[in-house]
Amino acid sequence: MKKEIKKIITKNAGETMALGKKLAKEIGEVRIICLNGELGAGKTTFSQGFLRSLGIKGALTSPTFVVMKQYLLGKNIFNLKNIYHLDTYRVESEDVINLGWKEIVENKNNIILVEWPEKIEKIIPDKSLWLDFKWLDKDKREITFYEIC
Ligand code: ADP
Ligand code: MG
Repeated sequence: MKKEIKKIITKNAGETMALGKKLAKEIGEVRIICLNGELGAGKTTFSQGFLRSLGIKGALTSPTFVVMKQYLLGKNIFNLKNIYHLDTYRVESEDVINLGWKEIVENKNNIILVEWPEKIEKIIPDKSLWLDFKWLDKDKREITFYEIC
């Protein structure tokens, strides 16, 4: 079941990044964040804010070509160990399973961000957060948060 939590309109990339930062601060029990929306909708921009907020340094490039990027976390209050950032646009569920998906999602010390989650929907665990990114105009995006339960 998909339950809408909130809808937010951002007026520029910085605001979308700030939204990602905010979510990282209030992550609670959430471990899987699905980022849905067309190309250029702001999924990677949001992820960059999220990663920065958890202290990840250096370039935060899109995992478009490598499919999955792993970031090791330093000491943190949530006891999180890794963030995995995936872009599954070009792959299928089976390919992601072969990257060690099962162990990654079963470990509660991991956080997973997935761009193009509909491509691997059958292997997304039931309890996750789902964000729909919608392109409104050049600088405006509508971001709807859903709880999957
Ligand atoms: P996706 O990962 O969904 O393909 P990206 O985050 O890579 O999208 O790209 C979004 C592009 O749109 C970036 O170039 C960004 O600067 C631009 N942009 C403009 N306005 C916004 C906004 N409100 N939110 C996010 N990105 C925006
Ligand atoms: Mg992207």
